[in-house]
Amino acid sequence: MSTQTEPKLVTQIDFARAGQITPQMKEVAEREHRDPEYIRERVADGRIAIPANIVHIKKGMRAFGVGEGLSTKVNVNLGISGDKADAAEEWKKVKIAEDYGADAIMDLSNSGKTRQFRQQLIDETPLMVGTVPMYDAIGYMEKPLVKLTKDDLFEVVRAHAEDGVDFMTIHCGINKSVTKTFKETGRLMNIVSRGGSLLFGWMEVTGNENPFYEYFDEVLEICHEYDVTISLGDSCRPGCLYDSNDATETAEMIELGKLCKRAWAAGVQVMVEGPGHMALDEIAANMKLQKRLCHNAPFYVLGPLVTDIGVGYDHITAAIGGAISASSGADFLCYVTPAEHLCLPNAQDVLDGLMATKIAAHAADIAKKVPHARDADDHMGQARRKLDWDAMWECALDPVTGKKRYEESPAATEGTCTMCGKMCAVRTVNKVFEGTTIDLGMED
Ligand code: SF4
Repeated sequence: MSTQTEPKLVTQIDFARAGQITPQMKEVAEREHRDPEYIRERVADGRIAIPANIVHIKKGMRAFGVGEGLSTKVNVNLGISGDKADAAEEWKKVKIAEDYGADAIMDLSNSGKTRQFRQQLIDETPLMVGTVPMYDAIGYMEKPLVKLTKDDLFEVVRAHAEDGVDFMTIHCGINKSVTKTFKETGRLMNIVSRGGSLLFGWMEVTGNENPFYEYFDEVLEICHEYDVTISLGDSCRPGCLYDSNDATETAEMIELGKLCKRAWAAGVQVMVEGPGHMALDEIAANMKLQKRLCHNAPFYVLGPLVTDIGVGYDHITAAIGGAISASSGADFLCYVTPAEHLCLPNAQDVLDGLMATKIAAHAADIAKKVPHARDADDHMGQARRKLDWDAMWECALDPVTGKKRYEESPAATEGTCTMCGKMCAVRTVNKVFEGTTIDLGMED
């Protein structure tokens, strides 16, 4: 008789490898119109992640799957900043994220009572919650950057895990080898990742290796204990078109691929983060390279923004890139708002950014042939043909804004809108087929 104890199954990947389908896998399967075994197989080999901290599950979160064959997920960033610490405004953004169909909220708070805000968010939202512990470290430990120790940084990671954070961006890939490549090859915009720049500064001043890289196994132990999905941060994502797909970005991606394998070996779920800014014609190749180098781990992408000069409209530059990236393999899009590069977004910016990103994700899902992705579009076509406005609102990604605009401009001819009025093409053709009088207005 064996005296060995069976390893404890904690994470979704643990259960999947043991051949067990969890309630979260079932929930994902149902929502995505997939067989539960399809989900289990892909969670087991890392192609799908279900970021769901065991603490957040107990608080009633919904399970979301991120990865191969699933609908593209959308994240909203929010959080209190040092310059604009208005918790009430941030709660308005949470409500918008929930009401308008975000799948995840990243709390990027970096000032004041971050723990209180984070814990309340996890208590109240059923969406996936992500954080970047590095942003929080200086405020949490009340120390200047260069005085932070490895133990300080890991204490913050543990605090976020205990609070129930489902996925954490941890900048593990920027090691001394990557920074050597960066300094040797140079870049126009250097390092534009906030967490990445802080770690680069810490490494340069202290002369030490990145502790998240050096002690990666300890990060994995914490993540395994709570089933926190590691979102491997791309410190060296391009901050302008000039830097995209350069040696530094690629060097870091190679490191991230190696870390994916170590995370899976430790029973930890993983996603990989990606660019950034990138010309339209480079995006598809970048997605394929990431999937190749990172062994098909889910890819979580910011944009990419397809031009650097769309300032004030970067929700559009990012949505164009987002549609291309998601249709080429990206699994999860981080929204970008019109305030990008300018200021902390307000509530309207959050709505505009979320809707632009939702449209990009949905357009990509149609192209990727995600099961039933096109159903709402086909229903919309039918509703429009019948000029059935109530049915149109049911299909719309944002029915509130659509209905409001329609009602603000009442049409003189019933069933139409003020765009064409009596010359409504849909109405005219319907009348032809009904065999009724076509009154085009000239008769009046
Ligand atoms: S009036 Fe013009 S825009 Fe409005 S529903 Fe008819 S065809 Fe479409």
